[in-house]
Formats: sequence, structure tokens, C-alpha cells
Amino acid sequence: MAKKYKFCIYIGRFQPFHLGHLETVKLALEKAEQLIIILGSHMVAPNIKNPWSSQEREQQIRSALADHIEQIHFLPIRDRLYSDNLWLTEVQQKVLSITEGSKSVAVIGHRKDSSSYYLDMFPQWDYIETGNYYGFNSTEIRKEYFEDQESTEYTSKVLPTISKALLDFRAKERYRELCDEYVFIQEYQKAWSKAPYPPIFVTTDAVVVQSGHVLVVRRKASPGCGLIALPGGFLDQNETLIDGMLRELKEETRLKVPLPVLRGSIVDSHVFDNPGRSLRGRTITHAYFIQLKAGELPSVKGNDDAEKAWWMSLGDLYAHEDKIYEDHFQIIQHFVSKV
Ligand code: NAD
Repeated sequence: MAKKYKFCIYIGRFQPFHLGHLETVKLALEKAEQLIIILGSHMVAPNIKNPWSSQEREQQIRSALADHIEQIHFLPIRDRLYSDNLWLTEVQQKVLSITEGSKSVAVIGHRKDSSSYYLDMFPQWDYIETGNYYGFNSTEIRKEYFEDQESTEYTSKVLPTISKALLDFRAKERYRELCDEYVFIQEYQKAWSKAPYPPIFVTTDAVVVQSGHVLVVRRKASPGCGLIALPGGFLDQNETLIDGMLRELKEETRLKVPLPVLRGSIVDSHVFDNPGRSLRGRTITHAYFIQLKAGELPSVKGNDDAEKAWWMSLGDLYAHEDKIYEDHFQIIQHFVSKV
């Protein structure tokens, strides 16, 4: 029987791909000749919300859908936390490269909560609402998986091939690191749960650039232990944003440039406030762009919360996007794309 659509698009993080996702894929393949699976949050550094890379997720899903694989396309797409339009542009461009302008396209999904708002952003395509299958969700599966290293409850919610991949992942160092991060986040949130209102944290970050290099640190502790980050941190009670930013910059990198020169080299600033930008809780950061004059790169040395500080060439930074903490890559992009 002829199918209603030529293409069906299924957007998700699939962290991990569970039986509810599988039911959606089955329905999509009943309705359309080909299925385009968009693997969202491409190149995000591993964390307890996004433990598996796009490559790992694609492998897991391929193993689960082996019988239909010739009908399925995978499109990894980066998040653009500060521009849905940029995100939509990439979705549209990559989808077009497969559909070649066909009008016979539908998006399939389930409006589960406010995080599903993106499903309303495709007026050019039909929409198929699936409803909720089994009440499963990936957040619960990850919770069991990281909370109890022995638990096997997740195995009843995913296909055996994915269950095996998750079991194999438990043998990796990354699994242990993520378990530590899970405990850290739980304890952090528990400590703040006694506050009369959910807290909103204020941080600052310094984007110091000189001659095509940006000053970065390697994080010494959870969350994001070992990841590359901007020097920055929480604002103290009695300091201004700029003072806080300069204090953290000096503490973490020992940058050998006098404070008045740093102050005089601030050329831009911006607030980064995506509600999901930090797993610790709602955190608004004020980032300052410090452009230093061309010349020999000033000496730096990791200190305090930073295991290491160094000047990273922008080319190298772009090549290590999936090792960069939270939205710091997008923060750097914001400033360096302007000058
Ligand atoms: P997900 O894996 O949680 O869910 C994927 C889809 O499956 C959703 O439609 C969800 O409702 C559905 N689903 C989940 N459990 C189900 C069940 N039991 N039964 C039926 N359906 C079920 O993925 P997600 O987090 O919704 O993925 C969205 C992606 O799009 C993310 O990567 C996000 O970052 C990205 N995005 C990016 C931007 C931006 O960067 N500006 C904007 C919007 C979305």
C-alpha cells in the first residue's frame, strides 16, 4: 500500500533510545517511505544528560533498527542555545539535502512537556503526534543507570542490543566519571533544596583573546571534571561583575597582564541565560570579551579550580568542541564571530 508521506522526520536526543522511541519509529515507517532521525545535541561534551556522542547514539539506534536501516537517514545537529533560528536553519538545510525539496514530509513526535516546543516550529511540514508510549522517558532511565551502578531495571525499557551497549559502557572510565558527576549534582541540588525559593546563581566568565588564541582552563572538579572551560566562577557577595570576572581570571590562570590593562581591554560583554545551560541549576553568566593586543602570548599557569591554563588556538578549539564545558563554546563563538 502506498504510504502517505515520502519522508518522516524524528527529532530527539535518544539518551538512550528506548521502547517508546521505537514505537514512534515503527509508526513513522508505516506512514512514510523514509525516516530521517535528527540526533540533537551533537558535539555536546559528555554529561549526565547527554552521556553518549552522536556516533555512539547512531550505532545504538542502528543496532536496534537493523531490519529497516536502508530506509533510515541520520542527521546529527548541534544545539544553538541562543538562536532557534540558527538551529532551524541547520535542520532545514540538512533535511533538504535528503528530501531534495519534496513536499511530502511530516514531523513525528510527542509533545511531552514545555521542552517539546520545537515541534511547533515546522509549519511547512505536517505533524504526527504519537502520544506517550508506556510512560517511558530517557531521564528516568539515566537516573536508574547512574544512581545505582548495579541496577538492571533499564533493560526492560530498551531493546536487548541497546541494553548490551549500556552494559558495555559501564566498563568505561567515562561511566565512572559520569556516576561521580551524578552524585555531585544530586548533592548540590539537595543542599539548595532547603532554600525558600529555587536559587538562581550568578557567574562571570572571561573570554580573553589574543592573536587567534583564547585563554582556557581544564576543570579540576565536578561537574565537567577534565573538560575545557573559560576561566570564571560564582560572583562573591560584595563585588561587581567586572571585579568578579577579573578575580576569577587571575585566580584560575595567573595571567601575567596588569589589571588596569585587562580592564581597559574589555571590548564587549553579554549575558548568557539559557535556562538549561547548567546541570547544577539555573545559572546566569555574564561573559566579558577581553581583546589583547597582538604579540607574544602572556604567560599563564593553572591554579585554584583549574588544573591547567593555556592559550588554545581558535582552530584547535573548534576541533575540540565536544570537550568544552556547558555552553562555553557557544559563548566564545558569540564574541569571536564579531571581530
Ligand atoms: P528526547 O530523546 O527526549 O525525545 C525525542 C522525542 O521522543 C520527543 O518528541 C519526545 O516527546 C518523544 N518521546 C520521548 N519519550 C516518549 C514516549 N515514551 N512515548 C512517545 N514519545 C516519546 O529528545 P529531546 O530532548 O526532545 O530532543 C530535542 C533535540 O532538539 C535536543 O537535542 C535539543 O537540544 C534540540 N533543540 C535545539 C534547539 C536549539 O539549539 N535552539 C531548539 C530546540 C530543540
